[in-house]
Amino acid sequence: MTYKTIDDIDVSGKRVFLRVDFNVPLTKEAPYTITDDTRIRATLPTVKALLDRGARLIIASHLGRPKGVPTEKYSLLPVFKHLQELLTAQIRFAGDCVGAEVEALANLIKPGEVLLLENLRFHPEEEKNDPAFAQSLAKLCEVYVDDAFGAAHRAHASIEGITHFVSVKAAGYLMDKELKYLGGVLSSPAKPFVAIIGGAKISGKIDVIESLLQRTDKVLIGGGMMYTFLKAQGKEIGKSLVEADKIEMAKALLAKAGDRLVLPVDTVIASEFKNEAEYKTVSVDAIPADWIGVDIGREAISQFRAEIARAKTIVWNGPMGVFEMPNFATGTLEVARALADATAAGATTVVGGGDSVAALEQSGLADKMSHVSTGGGASLEFLEGKVLPGVKALEA
Ligand code: AMP
Repeated sequence: MTYKTIDDIDVSGKRVFLRVDFNVPLTKEAPYTITDDTRIRATLPTVKALLDRGARLIIASHLGRPKGVPTEKYSLLPVFKHLQELLTAQIRFAGDCVGAEVEALANLIKPGEVLLLENLRFHPEEEKNDPAFAQSLAKLCEVYVDDAFGAAHRAHASIEGITHFVSVKAAGYLMDKELKYLGGVLSSPAKPFVAIIGGAKISGKIDVIESLLQRTDKVLIGGGMMYTFLKAQGKEIGKSLVEADKIEMAKALLAKAGDRLVLPVDTVIASEFKNEAEYKTVSVDAIPADWIGVDIGREAISQFRAEIARAKTIVWNGPMGVFEMPNFATGTLEVARALADATAAGATTVVGGGDSVAALEQSGLADKMSHVSTGGGASLEFLEGKVLPGVKALEA
C-alpha cells in the first residue's frame, strides 16, 4: 500500500474535498438528532489539521440508505448542527452535493472554513460510481482526501470515481490509522495470532474465517454461528440459531482446520429468546431439544481467556452471545475484558464490527484496545485479504 497522507501534501488555500463516514445513528423520529457521534469525533484530527493548514474544506458523506432520493430522515443537517458545536471554524451547509449553487458556495469559502455537503446518496449516481457525477464532485476541489475507512469497500463515485478527476489525493489520519493497524495484523502479526469471530450468522463471515485460518494460530468461534458448527459435528443444538445451508461448509472447515478452529465447550441456554427467560449453562454435548443457545458458557470463557492470554496479536469481530440482553452479555463482556488485559500485557488488539464495538462501549473498555476499527464491513473485507476500492484509488 503506497499512498500519501495529508502530511505529504500542500493544502494551503486549496479547496479540499474531504470524504468522511458520518453515517451516524439518529433518533427514529423528527427532530432527528445524533445518538452516537463516535464516527464524527474519529475524523476530527483530520478536519482540524486541514483547517489549521489553511484548507478551504468541503466535507462530504453518505448517511443511511435513501436510495437516490432526497429524504429528510437522511439529511446531514443534524450533522451540520453537531459540527457547529464541535468546531470553532465557520461552517456552511449546502443543500446538495453537486451543481452550480454548490460550486458557487465551494468558491466562496475561505481558508480555514468548512462547507458541509448534503447526503451524497441523494443522487443514485453516487452508488453507481457514475463518471459524470464523479466529475461534478471533482469540480468542487483541487485536492481529494479520503478519511472514510468505513466506506472504503464501496466503489462509489465519491470514493473511487472522483479520484480519476483530481490529481492530488491523500488519506486522512483515520484512514491511515485503520490501514496501519489492519495492514499490520495481515502482513506481519506478532505470533501467536488469535482471531475471535462471533455474531449472528456464518454466512457473512465464512470468507473471513477461511482467510484468518490461513494466517492465524487459532480462530475462536462464539455467537449464533457456533451452533451451526456444533450441528456440523452432529450435536443436538435445540432451537438455537442455525443456517441449514451452511452445515456442509462448516463441516469442511472443521475438517480442514482441525484444532486451530476452537469451539466453546459449554453454552448458556434459555427457555425462550428473551432476557427474562429461564436460563442455565450446559456442556455443548447436552443442549436439550427445546432450548436456545444464547451465549458462551463459563468454561468457554476460561478456555478463550487462556488462548487470548497466550496471544501477541488478537483480532475480534462479533459478539459471543445475545449481548443486547443483559443476562446473555457475560461472554461478550468477558472477552472484552480478556482483550483489555492482553493489551495491557503488550499484545496488539484490533476490534472491528458494529456490535463488538457497541459491546466495548457498553463495557467502557474501548480505550483499552490497541485499535477499534470504525469500519465493520470494510474491516472484514480487508481481513479477508481483499483490495478495498477506496484504498486502491488512493494509491500513488
Ligand atoms: P453480526 O451482525 O453478525 O455481528 O451479529 C450480531 C448479532 O448477533 C447481535 O445482535 C447478537 O444479538 C446476535 N447473536 C449473538 N449470539 C447469538 C445467539 N446465540 N443467538 C442469536 N443471536 C445471536
